[in-house]
Amino acid sequence: MSNHVLALAGGVGGAKLALGLSRILPPDQLTIVVNTGDDDVFHGLHVSPDLDTVMYTLAGLSNREQGWGLEGETFSAMDRLEVLGGETWFRLGDSDLATHLRRTQLLRQGFTLAQATSELCARLGVAVRITPMTNAPVRTQVETEDGVLPFQEYFVHRRCEPRVRSIRFKGAGTAEPAPSFSDALDRATIIVFCPSNPFVSIDPILAIPGVRRRIENAGAARIAVTPIIGGRAVKGPVGKMLTELGHDSSSTAVATHYRGLCDIFALDEADAAAAPEIEALGMRAVVAATLMLDDASKIALARRVLDVARPDAVNAR
Ligand code: GDP
Repeated sequence: MSNHVLALAGGVGGAKLALGLSRILPPDQLTIVVNTGDDDVFHGLHVSPDLDTVMYTLAGLSNREQGWGLEGETFSAMDRLEVLGGETWFRLGDSDLATHLRRTQLLRQGFTLAQATSELCARLGVAVRITPMTNAPVRTQVETEDGVLPFQEYFVHRRCEPRVRSIRFKGAGTAEPAPSFSDALDRATIIVFCPSNPFVSIDPILAIPGVRRRIENAGAARIAVTPIIGGRAVKGPVGKMLTELGHDSSSTAVATHYRGLCDIFALDEADAAAAPEIEALGMRAVVAATLMLDDASKIALARRVLDVARPDAVNAR
């Protein structure tokens, strides 16, 4: 059976490992499935932040410092919108706006979100298959001490400040995996949980009916990479969410969240002491250098992930 790697990803952390994987695997051996629970409509345009982060990263267009958005972006349209009294807390760059305009046009013409993503990727020269988790609208909602907030309201407008009580995925119950996701679930020999936020990037993917069960029963080698280094998130609210949801801010807590779904958990060298706790969960703990600051470290981590998941697969390459 030929190798196929299915990577589950959110935005920034997911895109980093996805880039590493894309540099060492032929395009037909990799499918990157991306969270769309963060999607929303701004100014009538369909915005898919995580899909765009992964797409721009693989196209070599992303802003390297931020890890999202486009390099050299300008914000004239937003500045003008502000003058005109429009809402501008969700900042869309001038070039980025073209992506949202084109995606929205394609959706209005009857393309599915997966088809629109393939078209955008083809235009940007991305050969690897990047697919949304579903073509159906699924919207992450964060139940906080200040009430239920749509994801971007919580994440961007409120800067993740309100305490989180629970997280839900509106629309997930009736959604289906995108056909390219379902196909990759059938073919995968390795499933990689990228170092994305487990609660708001990976859980929405697992909430699509059938997905969790298919991963639990998959014959593939399943490996997760920690988003926590030295007990803290590299970026974003995962540490805060872990504690607000009643866990420790630790790789062990993330591994516990993935129990039953993963065979191997890659934790950072800084947290090597937690390896026995993770092994006690019934997973193999692998200590790795997981901080990805440049392309070389992204490629090195991707290679390590594939090596430990399937030594035979790596030898066959
Ligand atoms: P978002 O949707 O843009 O928030 O992106 P993700 O959910 O894919 O990624 C966010 C997570 O990636 C955060 O929890 C970070 O701690 C984690 N992360 C970001 N950069 C790195 C890195 O270089 N190494 C590791 N191990 N985790 C990272």
